[in-house]
Amino acid sequence: MEQEIKLGSVLVLKKGHPCGVNKWEIVRFGTDCKIKCLGCGRIVLIDRPTLKKAIKKVVGETNEGTVEINH
Ligand SMILES: [Zn+2]
Repeated sequence: MEQEIKLGSVLVLKKGHPCGVNKWEIVRFGTDCKIKCLGCGRIVLIDRPTLKKAIKKVVGETNEGTVEINH
């Protein structure tokens, strides 16, 4: 099933970040996407097909980069 994702979507991936947090915000959405770890702020470049396959679920979205997430 196709997940609805867009710029600002907050995702849980199948594999979390080594920092221990598994929540990512899409900070750039195009052929190549950039996702930001909401735990440590690290930004990872990932192509869109790989990202779609890596998504476990979409947990919400942010508005223009302001993030209010409880870990
Ligand atoms: Zn992290």
